[in-house]
Amino acid sequence: MSHYIGIDLGGTNLRAAITDTDTGQIFYQRKCPTLATEGQEAVIRRIVQLTRELIQASGEPADAIKGIGIGVPGTPNIDTGVIEFLPNLPGRWLNVPLQAIVQEQIQLPVAVINDVRALTLGEWIFGAGRGADTLACLAIGTGIGGGLVVNGQFHLGIGGTAGEFGHHVVEVDGPPCGCGGRGCLELYASGSAIAAMGVKEVMHGHTTRIGELVNHDLNRIDAGVIIQAAKEGDLIAMGILQRAGLYLGIAVGNILGVISPQRVILGGGVSVAGDLLLKPIVQTVNERVRVIPLQKVQFVLAELGINGGLIGAALWAKRKCEGS
Ligand SMILES: [Zn+2]
Repeated sequence: MSHYIGIDLGGTNLRAAITDTDTGQIFYQRKCPTLATEGQEAVIRRIVQLTRELIQASGEPADAIKGIGIGVPGTPNIDTGVIEFLPNLPGRWLNVPLQAIVQEQIQLPVAVINDVRALTLGEWIFGAGRGADTLACLAIGTGIGGGLVVNGQFHLGIGGTAGEFGHHVVEVDGPPCGCGGRGCLELYASGSAIAAMGVKEVMHGHTTRIGELVNHDLNRIDAGVIIQAAKEGDLIAMGILQRAGLYLGIAVGNILGVISPQRVILGGGVSVAGDLLLKPIVQTVNERVRVIPLQKVQFVLAELGINGGLIGAALWAKRKCEGS
């Protein structure tokens, strides 16, 4: 038996699960609100509390669990387990030794990784990436994250920073991005960008299902509303997803040119749009990429849903514990 705990530190919820890393099966799961505005110390306390509750509720003997993996929305140093910067969570989160703190409190080995890198690992081993030797995974949520597998190796780059597709430049003279660059993909195709395009359409007084779905309350427009409107056949909403897909297609084309993957996996909350997003991506790639044998590249949706990140974080803990 190879049981590890995977934790996903999300902007809204903190989720934890005991996972059998040999099968990818999740046994026990718990979640609580992250309440990130209360600051990093409160959030770390909740991580420890949630983990203790999970172990207790599982009834597993303490030594049955081999370690804990934590996926975080930012770029932690995977070698030291120190979070240098978490741009997507309120609070300071500057040089926070998350790994050491949780390890000390729970007395189990802890490993920290970017949340979408964790998702990539989960999808590669147990989900849509099974059997692929080289793949790219993009997760489109509030922001856009990514991860890579190259030549049968989980590719992490310096300190685990490889795969930041959200910050690929898709418009040279685009607006400034939170990362310090300009014209990044995240500004054009993330859940936040999709929602902003919807708000603009309603503000301009266009008749669209988007406005009707939220009773013309602009604050309630999120990517989910746009997707729902598009699924109901609203042309403006479909156009927004088409535009996001165009930019995603440009970025995916660039990725193809770098690693020439057999598979490209689309995950994250916005990927529930399915073909409404996948089709324009594939169309853009087909129109613009000639240097890669596209008939050998599969474009697929992630399979593990919100559990992908949890399973991946557990797999990451196992890899770190076993030194592989
Ligand atoms: Zn950026």
